[in-house]
Amino acid sequence: MKVGIFDDARIGVVRHNTVHDVTAILDRVPAMRYGIRQGDALIAALPSLQPVMEEMASRAPGVPLAAVALRAPVGHPGKLLGAPLNYQDHVQEAQADPATFAVAQIRRIHELGFFLKAPSSLAGCAEGITLSHTDRRTDHEVELAVVIGRRCRGVARQQAIDVVAGYSIGLDVTLRGSEERSMRKSIDTYSVLGPYLVTADELRDPSNLDLRLEVNGEVRQQGNTRDLIIDVPGLIEFASAWYTLEPGDVIYSGTPAGVGPLKRGDSLLAWVEHVGSMKLSVQ
Ligand code: MN
Repeated sequence: MKVGIFDDARIGVVRHNTVHDVTAILDRVPAMRYGIRQGDALIAALPSLQPVMEEMASRAPGVPLAAVALRAPVGHPGKLLGAPLNYQDHVQEAQADPATFAVAQIRRIHELGFFLKAPSSLAGCAEGITLSHTDRRTDHEVELAVVIGRRCRGVARQQAIDVVAGYSIGLDVTLRGSEERSMRKSIDTYSVLGPYLVTADELRDPSNLDLRLEVNGEVRQQGNTRDLIIDVPGLIEFASAWYTLEPGDVIYSGTPAGVGPLKRGDSLLAWVEHVGSMKLSVQ
């Protein structure tokens, strides 16, 4: 199933480029109780609600995807994790350009571990990217984003795919400079997620997916998830050895080579095989 959030917090099931409004499903999502950490309640409930959502979608008229404003498909992520330097070709471009990449931060991902991006930086493709600190360079990073579906800790890689709710396209937008990654990558709209979530039952194997980013029609980044230094199961094993992962947590899995500067007025087209594509603009 492809499920997303559109317009004013409507929930939609996407079929063949149309959206079917299933917002009424929220009546079946357990209410938030203050003081109890449960992660994103809709993502947590997806496995049990999916058959009902499919049925509701079949009865709801479809609206063209292009006619709605797509928001980030996770409403309440507890944390956004980023995998730094997780493609060898991107490691090489970082090493070759110390003026852009902080030298102290070019190390192996096994040593660096994850960085955290503020959940307030999350944006859908309809919002696009609003550049900040425009006197400095801000780069695009297209990535496969993995959305966690179950509360878990200490997950072995053999079981890792079982805790995945689904996949989206992620853009890990990055202000270059000396500050901590977690600060430079947490600016409002610098964590794009979209266009919707493709549930894990529909995308069984994330280990061989092409991904691509075009800026103003020119291909800037092209890669395949088989070239991840730590693959998706490995990332879940690594992250869950340190943190409890909760429904709605998002792992930005890393970006291939070709990162480059964004400027106001750019239009982006991001694509991940079997996930979809999204257009967005830079302001
Ligand atoms: Mn990244």
